[in-house]
Parts: sequence; C-alpha cells; structure tokens
Amino acid sequence: MASIRLENLSKVYKGGTAKAVDSVSLEIKDKEFVVLVGPSGCGKSTTLRMIAGLEAISEGKIWIGDRLVNDVPAKNRDIAMVFQNYALYPHMTVFENMAFGLKLRGYPKAEIEKRVNEAAEILNIQRYLTRRPRQLSGGELQRVALGRAIVRKPKVFLFDEPLSNLDAKMRVTMRTEIHKLRMRLQTTFIYVTHDQTEAMTMGDRIVVMKNGVIQQVAEPMTIYDKPANKFVASFIGTPSINLMTGTILKKDKKYYFDEGKFRVKIIDEMNEIIAPYAGKEIIFGIRSEDVYDKVFVSEASPDNTIRVTCEVVEPLGAEVFLYLNSGKSNFIARVGAHNRPEVNKDMEVVFDMRKVHFFDPKTEATII
Ligand code: ADP
Repeated sequence: MASIRLENLSKVYKGGTAKAVDSVSLEIKDKEFVVLVGPSGCGKSTTLRMIAGLEAISEGKIWIGDRLVNDVPAKNRDIAMVFQNYALYPHMTVFENMAFGLKLRGYPKAEIEKRVNEAAEILNIQRYLTRRPRQLSGGELQRVALGRAIVRKPKVFLFDEPLSNLDAKMRVTMRTEIHKLRMRLQTTFIYVTHDQTEAMTMGDRIVVMKNGVIQQVAEPMTIYDKPANKFVASFIGTPSINLMTGTILKKDKKYYFDEGKFRVKIIDEMNEIIAPYAGKEIIFGIRSEDVYDKVFVSEASPDNTIRVTCEVVEPLGAEVFLYLNSGKSNFIARVGAHNRPEVNKDMEVVFDMRKVHFFDPKTEATII
C-alpha cells in the first residue's frame, strides 16, 4: 500500500523533439484506483512506465510513499505491472509463470505455493495451474497475468491496457473481475486505457491526457458533467457530446444561442456567465441524452424546441439513437426504445437547456 506523487514529470524520447509527457503533476492516494485515459499517443504508457521504472525520467520527480524513486531500479520499487500482451513465458506452466517472480526473489517453496494457490483461488484459475499459456483463452491468460502480479503483494499495481486484446464480452467480464480484485486487495492501482467506458466504470478518479498534458483530474461523474474543456467533453461519453458552432444573441435582456438554422433560449441562471459572449461566436454542447423527441416532452416551448430532419433511426434494444440534421449541424439524440420517428421526415426535438455546455471557440475551455 502506498501513495504516489508525480511532480512536473516530463519525458522526451531520444531523437524526439516534442515532449511525450509534459510536466505531469499528480497525487494518488493510498488504495486509490486512478485511471489514465486519452487517445493513442497522449503519453499514458510513458507515464506509467516511468512510475514502474521501465523508462528513464527526463525531468521531474516520482515518490512512492515517502520514497523518492527516481534512481531506484524497477525491481526495487515494490510495484507489479500487468501488460496488454500478458508477457507470460510460453514454456512454463501457469503455476511456474505465477511463481517465477517469487522464485527469483528467493522466497521459500512453501510460501510460493501458498501465495500462488491463494491467487489462483481469487482468480478462479486453480484448474489451469498445470497448463501452458498456449492452452488458455485470452481471458484466462489475462487472469494468469493478474495472478502473477498478485502473488508479489506489491504496494502498487500498474495496468497498461490490460483488456485491449480481449473480445468485447470478455472485456466487460474482466472489468468487473478487476473491480472485485481491487475491493479485495485494497492496494493502489494505476490503470491506463484509451477506452473511456473502462475509465468511467473503474476509476475512483480519472486523469484525462492529451499530447502529454493532463487536461483534467476528477471523479468520473464530475468529468462527465463538468468537463474542463471541449476535448474532455468530447472524449468522455458515447456517443460523443453534440457540438455546434453559433453565436450568442442578446434580445430584451435575454440570451439565445443562435446556430444559424435554429435559436434556443439560454436559461436565466447562465446569463451572468454568458453575457460577455453576446454577439460573439461560441461552441454549444449538448449530450445526446439531453435531446428529446417533442412528442414525449411536457415542458416544450419555442425557447427549447427546434425543427430537424431525422436521417437515421438506430435501435439498440434498450434505447434508440436518432441521427438528426438541423440544416447546418448534425447531432444525435439518445431516446427510449419506444421512440421511433419516421426517417427522412421533419420532427421537433427539445433540448434540456439546464444541461447544455458552452466552450470558447479559441481556447476550447469550458465557459459553462
Ligand atoms: P499512449 O500510451 O497514450 O498511447 P505513449 O506513452 O505510448 O502514448 O506515447 C507517447 C508519445 O511518445 C507518442 O508520440 C509516441 O509515439 C512516443 N513514444 C513512445 N514510445 C517511444 C519510444 N520508445 N521512442 C520514441 N518515441 C516514443
């Protein structure tokens, strides 16, 4: 068990000019589950590998607990890492793979057996202990890789995209397995993924990265409801938040978002923040679940209703995605399973104006 502190951590690869990781500062509490998320190439793995001691640090400091570990070799950092490709030895049995790290460290045989059996029980892989990796499925291999990490009883677990090689169903299974494991082990976890669903469902806190720079650190629902900028708003959530450009219009002390083809009234509570943008261009954001078919809404008014064409209706079972077109912008409404408007017909949709976001078109920072 340990806290982790990163202070202005940076990485420039040999021959590289740009910073793969750019001045990352982060405090991870003891027993916390933190997810680093962002698109491919944003510096997640590099950050994790510097914490693990597998990559040299260009600038900055890393503490594990009270210990500055910049110059501590990986094997002495008391961490265990689980990789996407499992990194198991093909010629060894599952038992031997799990025992290998302990053997290297000179643990007595009885202790090794006890720990491997305990881990195998936690992961429900007792019956595979005598098999070799090639005799196992992807999900089973990943369990073995987890087992090999568990037996070490490390202070910190580091996961680098551990589920990306699994099929969609197995990913969901392993996601809940890791969640249960975490409850049981009560250890600090740092988990790297490009999958925002994994980030949302697993993390106590999420760290969203882009181009080596942290964009926001917060609990999952805060990231979702109060994104720090346009990038975070669109990266977190599926379907991605609807974004439209337009201008802020002021009329009779009221403010409107004018998209060009439609106009909606901004709620009075937002007036003060939106006032400086009167007459200026702005980016309007609304999540698909905050767009409703007018037929099913009682508080529709000309202030929040717009006319659109429904171009595609995509039934997903429990819900339906409507692909809408205002004549200028395309956007998605996520509505109930019963809701099946006609395709290529005009319809009216209602925006929940209490839930909308605004972003600065230049800085992309969140205004509301
Ligand atoms: P992520 O894990 O978010 O996909 P990485 O940390 O792997 O991103 O990579 C961050 C950046 O560093 C990328 O631009 C990548 O191309 C570069 N990079 C990663 N590893 C190396 C390496 N060994 N040598 C040079 N550049 C690298």
